[in-house]
Amino acid sequence: MHFELNEEQKEIKRAAREFCEKELTPELALEFDEKEEFPMELYKKAAKLGFTSMRIPQEYGGQGYGLLGDCIVVEEMCRVDPGIGVALSLGNLMIPDILLRRGTEEQKKKYIPPLARGDIISAAAFSEPEHGSDITRMDTTAAKSGNEWIINGSKEFITNAPIADVFIILCQTAPDAKPSHRGQSLLLVEKGTPGLEVTKLKGKMGIRPCITGSLSLSDVKVSEINIVGELNKGFYYALELFDGTRVTVAAQAVGMAQGALERALRYAKERKQFGSPIIQFQGVSFKLAEMATKIEAARLLAYKAAWLHDQRGEADPMATAMAKAYTGRVAMEVTDAAIQVYGGYGYLADYHVERFHRCAKITEIYEGTTEIQNLTILRYLMKQT
Ligand SMILES: Cc1cc2nc3c(=O)[nH]c(=O)nc-3n(C[C@H](O)[C@H](O)[C@H](O)COP(=O)(O)OP(=O)(O)OC[C@H]3O[C@@H](n4cnc5c(N)ncnc54)[C@H](O)[C@@H]3O)c2cc1C
Repeated sequence: MHFELNEEQKEIKRAAREFCEKELTPELALEFDEKEEFPMELYKKAAKLGFTSMRIPQEYGGQGYGLLGDCIVVEEMCRVDPGIGVALSLGNLMIPDILLRRGTEEQKKKYIPPLARGDIISAAAFSEPEHGSDITRMDTTAAKSGNEWIINGSKEFITNAPIADVFIILCQTAPDAKPSHRGQSLLLVEKGTPGLEVTKLKGKMGIRPCITGSLSLSDVKVSEINIVGELNKGFYYALELFDGTRVTVAAQAVGMAQGALERALRYAKERKQFGSPIIQFQGVSFKLAEMATKIEAARLLAYKAAWLHDQRGEADPMATAMAKAYTGRVAMEVTDAAIQVYGGYGYLADYHVERFHRCAKITEIYEGTTEIQNLTILRYLMKQT
């Protein structure tokens, strides 16, 4: 692996940076953080320029730059604003990735190009009120009746749910399967299907422009062609999926940390106390040096996981888990240190770094908590000994 981006990747980074710095203004960031709404207009603009479909192959309307290309853009988005950045990075989450690996040609053609263009929004529903880290059993069931599946149950914490046009839902299709995870399948459900109700969740700590909702499914009927891949393989497909998508979360974390560092560095050069800029005090300057070092290490782990994914055509679960766990912690530590550099002003919304800290926390929680990443790392460590 080269430890420097190539010319094409540097150009992607430059273009993404230019777009984000122009469009994700501080005013917009504060406005969307407060109103907890998805920045749809901006999303469509970003999609039109290809920034939301970097990882999607050109054949399906994307840019074909792989996961590393996606990470470079996501990092820039979250560097400029962690809330809007996350929202933009997750508008077409997971459905293209899973369909590319497991979907029929018909499913790919129907859903991936409009998702790549930003014409529609997707959501992926695994978590339930009683099943978060442990999705080995789902209370949401899908029962076969003729050539339809009838879905009943509920899902919690679903990104994009209130604005999604299409959902992919993990259901228990064989309730008596032992172990239970061998009886799960993934089904596509479109917005407006009778029996599907969405409730918007409000009051999140951070990433407030990336909206979240709960699903209630009551006798939701879908055709048998809506099943993705093989029947009863859904759990395995979910694990395979997360091994790739978690790398994007690592890129979100790196971007948030980088944005906070740059703000803190600027402020430390400007702010004077005891007659000199506070960067002259070693208590401040060493903090900045440590922040930069941690970010560099985190970035390398994230890029390595993305690069391995792109080279092999499938993720390296241990590299992904290490990247996600480490970058999330670094994002929390660096954004916290940035607030400290700002002193009292860091505690105020108008100075922005508190928002970076609030947003960073999600990277240690969604798409598998840090503890769950550690379990994966350990599982692979055990295999090595
Ligand atoms: C803003 C947001 C967006 C989300 N988006 C989505 C989405 O789009 N789709 C979706 O399906 N889900 C989504 N989620 C859900 C998210 O993936 C879960 O919250 C997460 O997986 C943890 O599940 P839980 O909240 O039920 O916590 P729990 O599983 O109840 O865990 C509670 C604590 O126990 C720890 N723990 C659990 N098991 C173990 C273990 N074996 N060993 C050690 N520690 C353990 C956890 O690490 C955690 O610290 C989202 C969540 C949030 C907050």
